[in-house]
Amino acid sequence: MRSNLIISVATTGSITTRENHPDLPLHPKEIAQAVYECYQAGAAVAHVHVRDDAGKPSMAMDKFAETVGLIREKCPIIINMTSSGGRGLVLTDEDRIDPIVALKPEMCSMDCGSVNFGDRIFENHPFFLEKLATRAREAGVKPEIECFDVSMIENGKRMFAQGLLDGPLHFQFVMGVRGGIPATIENLLFMRSKLPADATWSVIGVGKGHLPLMVAAMMEGGHVRVGFEDNVFYKKGVLAKTNAQFVERAVRLAEEFDRSVASVEEARQMLSLPSR
Ligand code: ZN
Repeated sequence: MRSNLIISVATTGSITTRENHPDLPLHPKEIAQAVYECYQAGAAVAHVHVRDDAGKPSMAMDKFAETVGLIREKCPIIINMTSSGGRGLVLTDEDRIDPIVALKPEMCSMDCGSVNFGDRIFENHPFFLEKLATRAREAGVKPEIECFDVSMIENGKRMFAQGLLDGPLHFQFVMGVRGGIPATIENLLFMRSKLPADATWSVIGVGKGHLPLMVAAMMEGGHVRVGFEDNVFYKKGVLAKTNAQFVERAVRLAEEFDRSVASVEEARQMLSLPSR
C-alpha cells in the first residue's frame, strides 16, 4: 500500500523576489497567512525563511520568532526552519543555527554539502553540518537532509553512521538548481536508489522540473514540496496566483494517483516526530 502523501510548502525562500512574483510573502504576517492558506489546502509541513524589512534574505532571530509565533497561533502545521542563510549575507555558523535552537521547530533543513548554486557558492562546511546536527538533536529538532546532488545523500548516510543523526532519516531532493543535479525523472530514481531502506523522501523540482518530478514522486512513493521558493510558474508563462494554488494542485493530483494526503498528525507519525 502506498503511504499517504506529505505536502510541504516553501512560501518564500531566500532567492525569489517581488520581481519574480508580485505577491511573494515577505513580512512575517504575510508568510504566516500564506502558510495558513496552504495548511487549509492540505500542506502538512511549512519550510520557513524570513526576510528583513526591505525584503532581503535574513536569518534574524526576531523575524523568525515573529513568523513562527504567528504560524503557531494560526495552525498546527509542522514547521521546518531553514538553516541555509541567504545570498549576500555574511553569517557565522551560530547565526544559522541559533534561531532553530531558540524556537525549536519540529524540523530544520540541513543542506548536506556544498554546491555551486547559480552564480554563488552555497557553502556547508563539514564542521557546520556536524554542529548543526548536534545542536538540532539537543533541541529536539529533526534535520531534513537537503540533497542538491547524489554526494549529499552519501554525506547524510555517513553522518548517520557516525552517530550524528538519528534514523529513520528524511531526505529532500533539490533538483534543477544550476550547479546541482538536473531535474529529470531518471536522476530522481537514481537518487532514490541510494537511500537507506527505512528513509522517507521528498522532492523539489526547481523551476520547470516542478511538475514532472512532483508526479514522479507521487507515483514512486515519495513526498513533495511546492511553493514560491522553488517555482512561481503554474504553467509555462503563467504565474501561480498563490502558494496555496500549488498545494491545491498537488492534492488533486494525489487523488488521481491514489495517494491520500497526509494530515499534520499523520505526517508526524510518518516522519517519526513526537505527536502533539
Ligand atoms: Zn529553503
